[in-house]
Amino acid sequence: MTKTFPNLIDGEMVETSATMEVVNPANEEVIALVPSCGKDELDRAVAAARRAFKTWSKTPIEDRRKVVQAISGVIKENADELFRLLTTEQGKPHDQAKGEIFGAAGMAAAQSTLDLDDEINEDSDARLSRTRRVPVGVVGGIVPWNFPVMMAMQKVAPAILSGCTIVLKPSPFTPLATLRIAELIKDVVPAGVVNIITGEDSLGPLITGHPDIDKITFTGSTATGKKIMEGASADLKRITLELGGNDASIVLPDANVEKVAEQLFWSSFSNAGQICVAAKRIYIHEDIYDDLSAAIAEYAKTVKVGDGSEQGTGVGPIQNKKQYERVLELVQDAKDNGYKFLTGGDTDPSGTGYYVPITILDNPPEDARIVAEEQFGPVMPLMKFATEDEVIERANNSEYGLAGAIWTANPDKGVEMAEQLETGTVWINEFLHLSPFAPFGGHKQSGFGAEYGKEGLLEFTYPQVITVKKDNVPA
Ligand code: NAD
Repeated sequence: MTKTFPNLIDGEMVETSATMEVVNPANEEVIALVPSCGKDELDRAVAAARRAFKTWSKTPIEDRRKVVQAISGVIKENADELFRLLTTEQGKPHDQAKGEIFGAAGMAAAQSTLDLDDEINEDSDARLSRTRRVPVGVVGGIVPWNFPVMMAMQKVAPAILSGCTIVLKPSPFTPLATLRIAELIKDVVPAGVVNIITGEDSLGPLITGHPDIDKITFTGSTATGKKIMEGASADLKRITLELGGNDASIVLPDANVEKVAEQLFWSSFSNAGQICVAAKRIYIHEDIYDDLSAAIAEYAKTVKVGDGSEQGTGVGPIQNKKQYERVLELVQDAKDNGYKFLTGGDTDPSGTGYYVPITILDNPPEDARIVAEEQFGPVMPLMKFATEDEVIERANNSEYGLAGAIWTANPDKGVEMAEQLETGTVWINEFLHLSPFAPFGGHKQSGFGAEYGKEGLLEFTYPQVITVKKDNVPA
C-alpha cells in the first residue's frame, strides 16, 4: 500500500479524505499520497497560527532562537533519511540532495543568530525616539519544487525567529521531505507556530487571499509571483517574492580555460539546471571561445545522466512532466531553427523517467528562445562576445535581474563589470554561493524584497517608532 504523509496543523499530524499522488521523476512511479487541502484545512491552520501568534510574538527572541536551532538539529540528525526521500521525490542525485538537507539545516542555524535590536533615532534633551521591530503576524509561505527543503526552511526560520507564525505550502510535486520534517519537529515547536499543509496549485490563491494571513513569502515563477502580488493587494498583505532568473555568466579572455570549464558546467547543470540562479546564458570572449567551449563539451561527456539514487549520477531527471515537456520544446525550437549543438539535442521523450540529455548549444543568436527564456533544465547556450560594453548590454537585456557572474584573472576588473550588471547578486569567479548574512533578492521581474540576512529578517516585521517627549512630562 502507498504510504501517506500527513500534514502538521496545530501541533497534530492530520490526514484528509482527499489526497494527491507524489511521483518519482526517475521512474514515474507513484511513491506516496499526501493530503489535498482546501479552504477548511487552511482555515484550521490559519486559526491555529493566529492563536499561537499571541504567545509566540511575546516569547523572547532568545527562546525563539533556540527553537530555530532545535529544528536545524532535528534536520541534521535525520539527514540520512531525508536526503534519500528528497532524491526520490525531486530527482536530484544523492550528493546534491545531501547538500540541500545540510544546507537547509545550516542556513536555519546561521539565520537563528540574527538580531532584531531596537534602534535609537534621536536621544536629545527634547526627546527619545526609538524604532522597535514587531512581527507582522501570520505568514503564508509558498514553496517551489526545485529546492523544496531549502526553500521551506528559508521561510520558516526567519518567520518564527521574528515572532511570526507560519502556514507553509510545499509544491504539490515535492512535499514529502518537508512533511517528514513536519513530523520530526512536531514536538520541538509549540503547537500552531509552524503549520505545513499540502494541496494543488489551487490552494495557493486561497492562501494569498486569506483575510487572516498578514504576509506572503513566495518562491516560484515570475508568472505566479504576479498573481500573488495581485491577490495580496486586496488587504495590502506584505509580500516577499523570489522569482525566476535568466542569469548570465561572462568569461573574460584572461580566464583560465582548464580551471573554469568544469565550474562553468556545474554552474549550469547542478540540480539538472533547475536553479533560479543557475547560469542560463554563458558569454565567452571570442579569443577563448573555441578552446573553452570544447573543454566544457569534453567535460560534459564525463557526467552521467540518470536516476539520482544510482551511484555516479551527476544530472538527474527533470522534476515533473510539465517542466520536462517545456525543456524538450525549447530544445526542439533550437533544432527547428538550425542552431548548432556541441552535445545533446535529443528530444525523443520515449522511455521512463523525465530525462533530458546534457545539451550545450554553440553560439545561438541572442533572440533564440533558448537564450531569451529561462530554460530551467540541463540545457546551456554558449555565446561569443567581443567587447565588454557589448556583453554588459546583452547580459542586461532581460526582464529578469536575479544573479550573474564574471570569470577573470583580474578581480578588480570583475568588480568594475559587476557594478554594471542589473542583478541582485553578482559573483566573481564562482557561482551559486548564497550567504545567510547577505540579502538575496531579484532586481526587475526576478523578485520583490529579499530573503536572508538582516534585510530578509526585517521583511517579517513592521517598524514601530516610539517617541518620548522628555521635556513635556506633566508635573
Ligand atoms: P510555480 O510558480 O509554478 O509554483 C511555486 C509554488 O506556487 C507552488 O507551491 C505552487 O503550488 C504555487 N502556486 C501555483 N499557482 C499559484 C497561485 N496562483 N497562487 C499562489 N500560489 C500558487 O513555480 P515552480 O514551477 O514550482 O518553480 C520554478 C520557478 O521558481 C522558476 O521560475 C524558478 O526560477 C523559480 N525559483 C526562484 C527562486 C528564487 O529564489 N528567486 C528559487 C527557486 C525557484
